Amino acid sequence: MILPRPISLLRNATLSDGSRVDVSITADLVSAVEPAGSLDVLDADATLDLDGYFLLPATADPHAHLDKSRSWDAIQPPLGDLMSAIGSWRDYTAVMSEDDVADRARAQALAMLAKGTTAIRSHIDILNGSDPLLCCRALVRVRDELSGLLDLELVVLAGPDVPDAQIDAALDLGVDLVGGVPHLAADPEADLLRLLAIAERRGVGVDLHTDESLDGPVTLDLLARAVRGWTQNVSAGHCVRLGTLPAEERARIIAEVVQSKVGIIANPITNLYLQGWQHSTSTPRGLTPARELLDAGARFAAGADNVRDPFNPLGSGDAFETAMLLVVAGHLTINEAFAAVSTAAREVMGLPLAGAVVGAQAEFLAVRGESLIQVVADAPADRLVIHRGTLVAVTTVTSAVAIPAIRPQTVSAP
Ligand SMILES: [Zn+2]
Repeated sequence: MILPRPISLLRNATLSDGSRVDVSITADLVSAVEPAGSLDVLDADATLDLDGYFLLPATADPHAHLDKSRSWDAIQPPLGDLMSAIGSWRDYTAVMSEDDVADRARAQALAMLAKGTTAIRSHIDILNGSDPLLCCRALVRVRDELSGLLDLELVVLAGPDVPDAQIDAALDLGVDLVGGVPHLAADPEADLLRLLAIAERRGVGVDLHTDESLDGPVTLDLLARAVRGWTQNVSAGHCVRLGTLPAEERARIIAEVVQSKVGIIANPITNLYLQGWQHSTSTPRGLTPARELLDAGARFAAGADNVRDPFNPLGSGDAFETAMLLVVAGHLTINEAFAAVSTAAREVMGLPLAGAVVGAQAEFLAVRGESLIQVVADAPADRLVIHRGTLVAVTTVTSAVAIPAIRPQTVSAP
């Protein structure tokens, strides 16, 4: 099959409420959603029959590190916590090339696209050495190469030692948002206010790594108060420390987050890996308090974060993996968890509504299966991915299983 391929009709699709529908697409928008069999096939080449598929809004990943992804094999770092990972990564950045970064980033982005993720927000490091913008150039290049296939938002991840001029230079290159790690600064409040001032001066959004520790400083409340009334999109990733606070203090900060409309982005796989190394018994999960944030009405999303790098040796970037962890480790419902990696993730990223709704952007993931809980559990490989009304990825697998020697007395689907 030649891709990309414009699509104008999806037939016989099963939605998460169990209904079977036809979906018509005009340009990049959903123009009709009608009962299955009721819309005529006008162009066979632009029609997909989704009988046997479950049709979901495409997934979105609001927190990735494409510049770091897939570097584990080259680095061979020790297993360890956040500071250990930062050390291993910094050593490697002294020898890596722009092409190496671009090749790994492109491979990971396309792997995520094949799984159904049509929008990715990636943080990008500013490096310490003689070429601080190497990763930024690589990711701007990859964003241009992948234009039309997926939406890639870029965040400059500026540590406390990065001068303002280098952040401005990254934004001048075309990086979209200001990011950083104020909780790792000697003066977290000063670093937070410095980054916000740059974003305000440049008129761009903000996405900060926030309080990524079990017992370090709390900066989320300061962030929420500082951006009250802002029109730019602001989000905070991780917020691990928030999950460790006494209930009353946690509720007070969450109320400020809701009032300021700061989006919160959980990253369960990386937090489960990086946190808790110092606790050999009753090891804490180190997770964002997802339940409390959702119940309070916060803008809440989740990302796959690091994939096969010093910050997480495993992970695939599959949104079903992140949704699964939000359920088993974060105690969300299946519907809440899938929203956090799809529609809610798009909202936190400032992207338009997607899915089988008239007027929504035609961003779809069709996956072979019958129910949301089944596809989140199984993460079936068979998937069709549509971005802006265009089929951009198709995966089909075949498998064969031996017939049991003793014939089952009841036969059900495998
Ligand atoms: Zn991160």
